Amino acid sequence: LEKKIMDAMEFIEENDVKFIRLQFCDLFGQNRNIAITPMQIQRALATGIPFDASLVVGFSESNHSDLVLCPDISTIQILPWRPQQGKVARIICDIRYPNGEIFEADSRLILKETLAHAAAEGFQFNTSAECEFYLFRQDENGDPTIMPTDQAGYFDLAPYDRGENTRREICLTLEDMGFEIESSRHEAGRGQHEIDFKHDDALSSADNIMTFKTVVKTIGQRNGVHASFLPKPLVDEPGSGMHIHVSLIKDGTDIFESRNNTLTEEAGYFIAGVLAHIKGITAFANPLVNSYKRLTGGKEAPRHITWGFGNHSSLIRIPPLIDNYFRFELRSPDPTCNPYLTFALILEAGLEGIEKKLPLMDESDLDEDEILKDSQKYKNIEELPITLIEAIDAMKSDALIKRVLGENLANNYIELKTLEWMDYIKTVHPWEIDRYLSTY
Ligand code: GLN
Ligand code: MG
Ligand code: MG
Ligand code: MG
Repeated sequence: LEKKIMDAMEFIEENDVKFIRLQFCDLFGQNRNIAITPMQIQRALATGIPFDASLVVGFSESNHSDLVLCPDISTIQILPWRPQQGKVARIICDIRYPNGEIFEADSRLILKETLAHAAAEGFQFNTSAECEFYLFRQDENGDPTIMPTDQAGYFDLAPYDRGENTRREICLTLEDMGFEIESSRHEAGRGQHEIDFKHDDALSSADNIMTFKTVVKTIGQRNGVHASFLPKPLVDEPGSGMHIHVSLIKDGTDIFESRNNTLTEEAGYFIAGVLAHIKGITAFANPLVNSYKRLTGGKEAPRHITWGFGNHSSLIRIPPLIDNYFRFELRSPDPTCNPYLTFALILEAGLEGIEKKLPLMDESDLDEDEILKDSQKYKNIEELPITLIEAIDAMKSDALIKRVLGENLANNYIELKTLEWMDYIKTVHPWEIDRYLSTY
């Protein structure tokens, strides 16, 4: 502790830090923070900083509104977009009760527990994510519209691509914050982009996703555009996904090391475990009513529960080997998910697959479009939940999810998401008026 405090004070001194943001991720994958001054850092590290959680949705339901933010000092970073004289640093925090016990709705702690469980069985879990997002114009009040900032498409160059300067600034900012950027480009949709960064252990990777989202939104704003991670903002354009790459190492061996299109036994079990729980996991990987509009089939998003080597339309894909990064890719998640919970659930589902030696279904080289065209022929291929409420239903009967989240948190989630669904269902949507009003 003494050493941590010394290191933190040195960092603050050296960088002329005037404010420290204590940051955490809420149940729904949104970053939250409170600021403290450097004078409080000793107290923050020694006892944590108390906060009132009664207005944090998903936290307040636990009947305990007094919680404590415990900074994980290894995550301290300067926020490059804040003033450079009198800087602002952020630290990602764990959340505890005042008596020091862990707060069971803290998704970061849930992932940590899962990683400890995996480590006890000898596994190290690494992940990366491909985050897609749209850049939309702002109106005269600075509010977001759904007008894309350009008409460009996949891999286009400027001048069609009008996002290059924003992307450049996002990449440079992320590099300042310690990211290794692998690539950035225009995606297929008008105004849609993707920036990929290097894989890491799952906890750092989830922290990075949260940082990434803040940086993209903040730098977008500074460039006069609205950056959006909404999974399906435009009906006729592709949605924004967040493909997750998963690698698992045991005794220095990559479980997902595959050559000549054969998987190791454990890799097969792991993927079978993920597929066995994917319907319930979808409630977390695709948490919004809007998430499901992306997964209706086509536009390069998965709808059916399949896996394959290199098959770009399957739910799980084993990409060709590059850079000795042995992995599989899960293509359903979207960037609105809580990455801590999503990673924890994928890992636990996979470990259960290994433990129970679950058999893996046959590989599929079918295209989503082919399956959709001949739905009779392929009626045995299972589908992801088609709406949020179906995913919530699947989650209700998934004992593994309840174990990982704990009964309380799982029930809270079900309750809150059901309310969200009912709110949606109660609304009369423009589509209904268009379709029905003149006829009925
Ligand atoms: N945008 C697609 C999705 O929704 C992915 C496109 C791609 O990167 N191949 O998942
Ligand atoms: Mg990609
Ligand atoms: Mg992409
Ligand atoms: Mg991908």
